[in-house]
This record gives sequence, structure tokens and C-alpha cells, in this order.
Amino acid sequence: MNDDILKISPSQFVSFLHEQGIHRAHFVWNANSGRVEASHPELEPIARFMDSDPRDFQQHEGVFLQVSREHDTLQGAFVHRTNRGQAAGGVRYWSYDTVEDYLRDGLRLAVGMTRKNALAGLWWGGGKGVMARNPQVDRDDRATRDSLYREYGELMTAVRGCYVTAEDAGTSVEDMAQVFATTRFTTCIPPELGGSGNPSLPTARGVLAGMIAALEFLDMGSIARRTFAVQGVGHVGGPLIGFLLEQGAARIFACDVDAALVRANRERFPDNVELRCVERDDTWIYAVDCDVFAPCATGAILNPATIPLLKARIVCGAANNQLEDAARDDALLHERRILYVPDFLTNRMGIVTCADESAGYVTPDPEIERHLQRDWQHSIHQTCMEVFGASGDSGRPTSEVATVIADRLSMEANPVYGHRGKRIIESLVADAWFRA
Ligand code: NAD
Repeated sequence: MNDDILKISPSQFVSFLHEQGIHRAHFVWNANSGRVEASHPELEPIARFMDSDPRDFQQHEGVFLQVSREHDTLQGAFVHRTNRGQAAGGVRYWSYDTVEDYLRDGLRLAVGMTRKNALAGLWWGGGKGVMARNPQVDRDDRATRDSLYREYGELMTAVRGCYVTAEDAGTSVEDMAQVFATTRFTTCIPPELGGSGNPSLPTARGVLAGMIAALEFLDMGSIARRTFAVQGVGHVGGPLIGFLLEQGAARIFACDVDAALVRANRERFPDNVELRCVERDDTWIYAVDCDVFAPCATGAILNPATIPLLKARIVCGAANNQLEDAARDDALLHERRILYVPDFLTNRMGIVTCADESAGYVTPDPEIERHLQRDWQHSIHQTCMEVFGASGDSGRPTSEVATVIADRLSMEANPVYGHRGKRIIESLVADAWFRA
């Protein structure tokens, strides 16, 4: 097997690993040699792919893979940077066509978490978990899921906490309870087990804080009497509309592809909310006449096809990875003089409410509330103002400016533990953890 290993499906890759007698494997960045080192010679092509791919590989400290014993599912922990603390980020359970797609998603999402966590001033590094769906396995069967997520927890335990997992797309709080059964290195567990539960309401409040900062920066006043367009009325978009109405929004346009959800919401929203059920590729919501456009559905929706349609002066929403191509679409919004509130700045409240669960609870929790207030150095409001100001001064788009600030913060060492994650990874390699 050569470079083709990247082009096969995750299920074929699992068969290949079985043939080689490999249950677990790693790819670790060696700063001295400037190369990625693979745990097994058979996996060298993957190490060389990472070395040669500056787009998605950014000197990730380690990538750890295992094949689940019961359901032949490829499971991974992608650790990007741990200077600020253990790598934190959710585990995604998703379908991938090729090993390359799988690896790229994990690598890219882990970098995103480094930036989100650093910009939020959290003492956490960045990482991501990814499980590739095996099409032979019923993803909704509870017994299957229990076993898959328990085995995923075993991977967390095996990598000794250099990555601490959480909920993400395709994963539920019930799944996280299973992870918790086999490892202490998880967050987002159910409230019955001492966890923080569903973070959607705080996330909606975080988006609101971003909107308020953007309106203020553009001298457009407050939420009151402004008009909004909300794409997706799910766990975040629905409550966001409620908050906007509470604050006196004049008119709200909203849409969703889920007809039942639209019907249910129509009954509870007042007349100044126009809610439409749309097809997935319908462009109505982009073109409505409004002040703020809030993407709260899926990623990659801001691109050369949609950005020219926008009438809003501000884009601020919860969806992850809203820019289809970060550099291109950030610049396109900037050229159109649309103030873009970077998603990784304003949708941080999910990880903020989960990450420090093990530190115990205070109600209301000042460590969480300060993200939503105006005066804390790393609050959404302050960070927005810093990013908007630096963007205005430099003429650079906002997402690019926020990325530079986040990357600088991500290099700061944890004040208590220093760069401990790196030492954990070194010990894993020295002890050949994958043989355990
Ligand atoms: P959700 O699944 O509850 O809601 C998303 C809604 O968007 C669904 O109702 C879906 O039907 C709708 N939708 C999908 N495609 C659409 C389209 N093309 N047009 C209109 N509607 C469409 O998800 P959520 O928890 O509300 O999260 C929304 C977004 O914010 C996601 O991208 C999520 O990754 C991100 N996010 C959420 C949180 C959180 O705390 N829930 C935190 C950070 C980021």
C-alpha cells in the first residue's frame, strides 16, 4: 500500500489495519526533524501527506487513531496545540468518502478549536475527535452507539488526557455519558452526572453579544428597531429569535428546511417574524432587506454565490465554519463593507460552558457570564471591538485579524501546567502506548 492509502474509504482503511495487525496508531510532530513520525512503517504515506500539506496540517502535536473492536469504526483524536492546556473540542460522528477527507476534517477542525479556545481566553488547547461512520453499522441503534462511544472513551484514557473530548455534530449528551463510563477525559456529560447539559441557550446569548458589539461599532444603535435575518431556527436560531424580540427587534425574517419545526415555531412567534420553510439551496434569506444576517444552520454558506446577494451590513451567527473558503470569502465580505463577526469568536459559549465542568458549579457562574459582559478582557464584546478596530486600522478582513490574535494567544503557556500536553505526547511515544 502506498499513497493510495489516502484515497481508500475509512472502511477499507480499517480492513487494511486489521490485515497489518494494527489496532492503534499515531502520527506525532517532531520539531527537531521537522517531520511527522508514524508509529508504524506501513503508515508512512499518511505521515508524508501531513508533512506536505500546509493547508490543513499545521504542525499538529499528535494524531491518534484506533479501530473500534466491536464495530470496525475508525476513531481518532486530533491534537493541534496544547500550550494553553489539554486539547479540548468535540467528537464528530460523520461519514467520509476517503481517508484523506477524514484526516483533513480532523486536522482542520482541531486548528479551529485552538483558535476558538485561545480567543475566548480559556486555558485549554485545541483538538477534535472524529469517528468515521461505518456504513455497515446502524448509527441510531442505542446498543451500538453505547459500545462505540465507550470504546471512544478508552481511546481518551489511552492517550492520557492530552485530548479532552466533548459533544459535537452527530453526537448527543447520552453518547457523552457512555464516553464518561470509560474515561475521565470528557466534558458535556448530562446534568444528572454533574455535567452542564445542552449549551444552545448560552450559545444564542453569545451570538446576541456579537450582534450588539457590531451594531455599536457601526454606530447603528442597539437591537431595538433593527431588522434581522436568521437562517435555521433550531437549538440556537430559535432562542436567538426570542432574545431579539425581547430586546425590541423591529422585524425578523427566518427560515428552516424542517417543515415540522417551521409549523411549530409559526404558532409561537408574533406577527413581526416572517418564518418560511425553504429548500436547502433556496437563496431567499440572503437577499432579504435587513441589518443583520445570522447564519444558524450549516457551514460553508458564505461564498461567491451568496455574498453578493446580502443586503445586511453585519453577518453574525452561530454556525461553524460559515466561510466556504476562509481567505477568499473573508475578503469578499470585507470588499462589500459587510462587517463579519467571525464564527469562532461569537459561537464560543458551547465550549465555554462545557470545558470547565470539572471545576464545579456556581449559579449564575461568573466564569461563564464574564464572556457575555462588556468589560472583561476576553469577553465576546471586548474581543469583537479589538478585532473590528484592528481590521479598520489595517484594512485586513475581520476573520484574518481574529485568527492572528488567536494564534498569538494560543502560544501562551498554561500558568500552572506549562506545555504539559506536549510532555504527555512524548511519554506516549516513549512508552509505545499503541501496544497497550
Ligand atoms: P440544530 O440542528 O438544532 O439547528 C440547525 C437548523 O438549521 C435545523 O433546524 C435545520 O433544519 C436547519 N437547516 C439546515 N440547513 C438549512 C438551510 N439550508 N436553510 C435553513 N435552515 C437549515 O443546530 P444548532 O444546535 O441550532 O446549531 C446551529 C449551528 O451552530 C450549527 O452549525 C452548529 O454546529 C453551530 N453551533 C452550535 C452550538 C450549540 O451550542 N448548539 C455551539 C457552537 C456552534
